[in-house]
Amino acid sequence: MKRIACFCIPARGHTNPMLPVVAELAKRGNRVRFYSFDRFKAEIVATGAEFVSCDEFLWELSDREARGLKSASTTEMTMIDFRITLRMTDFLDEEFERFKPDVVYTDSVCFWGKLSALKRRVPMVVSTSAFAFNQLSSRYMRHSLKELADIILGTPRMSRELKKLEPRGYRVKGLLSLVQSDNRTDSVVYASRRFQPYADSFSDRYAFVGPSVFSTAVPDKTRERPLVYISLGTVINDRPDFYAKCVEALRDLDVDVVISCGNAIDRESLGALPDNVRVFPYVDQLDVLSRTSAFITHCGMNGVSESLYMATPMVLYPQTSEQRAVARRVMEFGAGALLTDDSARGVRAAVLKILSDPAYGKAAEAVSADFRSCPGPAGAAEFIESAPHASNGIDVVAELNKASARFLFAYWAIVVAAVALIGFLIDWKYARIVGLASGVLSYPIGKAAQKLKYASVLRKIRK
Ligand code: UDP
Repeated sequence: MKRIACFCIPARGHTNPMLPVVAELAKRGNRVRFYSFDRFKAEIVATGAEFVSCDEFLWELSDREARGLKSASTTEMTMIDFRITLRMTDFLDEEFERFKPDVVYTDSVCFWGKLSALKRRVPMVVSTSAFAFNQLSSRYMRHSLKELADIILGTPRMSRELKKLEPRGYRVKGLLSLVQSDNRTDSVVYASRRFQPYADSFSDRYAFVGPSVFSTAVPDKTRERPLVYISLGTVINDRPDFYAKCVEALRDLDVDVVISCGNAIDRESLGALPDNVRVFPYVDQLDVLSRTSAFITHCGMNGVSESLYMATPMVLYPQTSEQRAVARRVMEFGAGALLTDDSARGVRAAVLKILSDPAYGKAAEAVSADFRSCPGPAGAAEFIESAPHASNGIDVVAELNKASARFLFAYWAIVVAAVALIGFLIDWKYARIVGLASGVLSYPIGKAAQKLKYASVLRKIRK
């Protein structure tokens, strides 16, 4: 039996996958204490874990903070995370003294959980509610200009806040080290190995356990009329304009429609609903998905995993870089189509595409079978109980970085030599052109070389 301290930020999408794991840990006789927030109390208590409320460390958000959270601004979310960490320091110091956890199981962006474990040198297992993102897999993320501007302009503010942590005994190398997945940290990822992009670049310290859900339901799509389910998750779901377009798009189709729109929306604002459409603030999503034939989703990792678990193909409507990464992966598996035109006509066309082409459903079924063969919450619990883990000693990302540095050195040495030769022997005009072209080409060539090297490192590991 172990004493296990669990930490998560106050967000449904991050808390949900931890709950079945916590229930499993408690069932196995561990003493589990979950530091969370009152809105999750009932669900945490139901797992058999002790619930410790951290609500007193929250505050009334300023307009800027509230807007930042609603738009998933990296800067505002990070600033709030730092502020909670600072407010909780004394409390957590005392709690670690009192509870003396053997293991910490913490969400990957819950800084107070991660930093407290590092400060106290308690073995830590990180819960990764999205894909594990390292240097390679983060290529799947395409930041919009707005997201890039938010990160670049916010970096000085975040760095200033980060510096306040040191005097409180927290050691942090840098902003990126706080959030990026590295090969030295025990991590649970709720995706299958197949579904995780660049899975082989992660060390043995990663457990790809597949979706973490309580549901025992199995997919059953045998309905008179297909069911279309629409949800934009629990964070950026304040989109009456979009729901109204979906209603218009689907009202005349021979389908039933369920919309989960969250609490922020006045359902009256959607106007008179046709008979085939029902709108709820919140639904039992796994239950609904088990019967759904097409899911219009914002591509949150949980929603997408749950959809695939229930063999449901998707219309993909990502809003953030992380969601775009998830959408891209779903498309690579053929289990969904991107919503490129979010007008009523576009929504209708995308839904009809999913419903009329059985290939999408077949692809979702194949991923469902893969997900259902994963170790799930029981595998995660076993991994947490036996932390810390050892690695096989091979860090693919570090190997690649070394190889890239060697390649770039050789590349630029050849370019400099070629430019000098052309300049001295032929004409400096041509030398300048060659120099410029080499500069432009260095990025795609470097990327291609890294791809080749990745394949060769993997061959070496598998030997
Ligand atoms: N969810 C639910 N009922 C709803 C809407 C959402 O149970 O009506 C759950 C859903 O099953 C998922 C989580 O809320 O586990 C949302 O997480 P996701 O990563 O999909 O999106 P986020 O809310 O984090 O953007």
